[in-house]
Amino acid sequence: MNFLEENKAIWNAARNELRAAVPDSAFSTWFAGITCTGGDDARVDLSAPSAFVELWVSRNYHDLLERNLTLAAGRRMTYRLTAPEEVPQPEPPPVTRAEPEPQRPAPLPTSIKSDNTFENFVRGPENEMALAAALAVSKDPGRVYNPLFIYGGPGLGKTHLLHAIAQAVLANSPRTRLLYITCEAFTNHYIRTVADGSWTDFRKHYRQTDVLLLDDVQFLAERERTQEEFFHTFNELHNDLRQIVLTCDRPPEELRTLEDRLKSRFKWGLITDVGTPSLETRTAILRKKAAAAGMTLPPEVETFLAERITVDVRNLEGAVLRLRAHLEATGAAPSALTVEHVARLLAPLLTEEARSKLTPEVVQREVAAHYRIPVSDMTSKKRTADVAFARQVAMYLCGKLTDMSLTAIAAAFGKSDHGTAIHARRTVEARCDTEEHTRSEIQFLTEKITRLRR
Ligand code: ADP
Ligand code: MG
Repeated sequence: MNFLEENKAIWNAARNELRAAVPDSAFSTWFAGITCTGGDDARVDLSAPSAFVELWVSRNYHDLLERNLTLAAGRRMTYRLTAPEEVPQPEPPPVTRAEPEPQRPAPLPTSIKSDNTFENFVRGPENEMALAAALAVSKDPGRVYNPLFIYGGPGLGKTHLLHAIAQAVLANSPRTRLLYITCEAFTNHYIRTVADGSWTDFRKHYRQTDVLLLDDVQFLAERERTQEEFFHTFNELHNDLRQIVLTCDRPPEELRTLEDRLKSRFKWGLITDVGTPSLETRTAILRKKAAAAGMTLPPEVETFLAERITVDVRNLEGAVLRLRAHLEATGAAPSALTVEHVARLLAPLLTEEARSKLTPEVVQREVAAHYRIPVSDMTSKKRTADVAFARQVAMYLCGKLTDMSLTAIAAAFGKSDHGTAIHARRTVEARCDTEEHTRSEIQFLTEKITRLRR
């Protein structure tokens, strides 16, 4: 039996259904480039044009895809979607910036950290979407995902990704006019321009650029006039197919004071997040940072630090630098470091981490208070609808805001089976999809609890 031919026919039929099922733009972005490469009688092998498409489709269209394959085949069909390996940029280029008028000093400082390359970025399930999108954008600026909007908590690698894009773009085409700026600096420049009236220079500075990397967009939200100016810059660049990449500490819809028309502009492109790294990712980041500092830490020290430092990746780097300074001062070898020694050396940093860590008790307390139920019901066996839902919300938020495993979350709620935590997540997500008030409630609680963490 030749499954290739049969599966190709199944894929073609499923594809036609998909074309009807999703908006045209989604179809052409996600499905048009997928081809069938074989499989067997229960599985269609599909090839995606990029790792990003692979991830996006399997995260967002898994059920739809499987359903349509099954319908097209007339029997239960799964799929395997793969993509060619993406090779990260080999060498970080020297950091230069193409200035339209090099003889004049740049009106705003540019600070691209040469260590912040794609190569130095550790990939984990929490950031792989954002990483893949950033890679795609840096290969073909202005053509895919424009704007690209990356959001996530502090210290999770957003600025790193912007700098990596900058360096990769310049490595590919050194003449690209590229501008990296924080929103704070953009705002200050705007205010200065209001004062001295140098609008021509201001507009030229932002609008004569091929790639605009704008960091920490949340600062823009507070300033109406700056938003207005940015809106025009945005439109002009976007119309000219210039690439815009934005980062923010939260998704656009949570930027309360951001104008709706700006929010909707952000949604033209791709919005993706970076999440808190898992223990594995943290260990890998720690190892990479240590290697960059010329050290190999003993495995038990690595584990100790990666387990303790969970909130802000910056603290992993801080720990490495602190240890290196200590080793340099004492002339000791990294291999001589013990857990006890490291715990003592890094005591202030570790205490700060411990304080800022969110525990399930905090989440339970806040959620119980919000729904006006006794906190003891968070772990009780009571099954009334309101208590059950409040409990599910708390489990969901534990999953979202802490790095607890599903089993640990279930246990914190007196359940022995991690299935409870999975079910809670699905229930809450489904209700957020259909109920506006649940969505805002969850948003509100997320923000409130996140603030407690810091
Ligand atoms: P953000 O802009 O999201 O607040 P940064 O990009 O400044 O965070 O990251 C903080 C520090 O952590 C930087 O030194 C960055 O290199 C490092 N970092 C964060 N995530 C990663 C990662 N996945 N791999 C390597 N380093 C990372
Ligand atoms: Mg940043």
